Amino acid sequence: MDNLYNAIIADHSEYPEYEGEINDADFSCELANASCGDKIKIDLKFDGKKIIDIKFSGESCAISTASADLMADVFIGKTKNELHAIKSEFLKMLRGEEFSLPEDLTALQRISKMPARIKCAELAWQIIEKI
Ligand code: ZN
Repeated sequence: MDNLYNAIIADHSEYPEYEGEINDADFSCELANASCGDKIKIDLKFDGKKIIDIKFSGESCAISTASADLMADVFIGKTKNELHAIKSEFLKMLRGEEFSLPEDLTALQRISKMPARIKCAELAWQIIEKI
């Protein structure tokens, strides 16, 4: 099981699907995690309340990059309110509590056993409070 999770995190950090920038973004925000040196800029494009595009760029470790890429996949087609609900489940998972999330995101479940890396996994998700 651990190998499968490692493979998912490696895949999303080495070949992130949502890495890049949106030139005519409706919203942009830079986030930083001083404990690891991660810096991520996230660009969003909306259609009404729904997010229709998301890209992230910057310098970030494997865990924060994988978390941003997995998060981006969840963002497409969602409203801010829907994202708040998903984030609260994601934070439960990182705290080692019961949670309900799309299966891909559970690749990050083992981070709950790595307290030093929780801030890496949470970094991109801070965008939800800033939108
Ligand atoms: Zn990190």
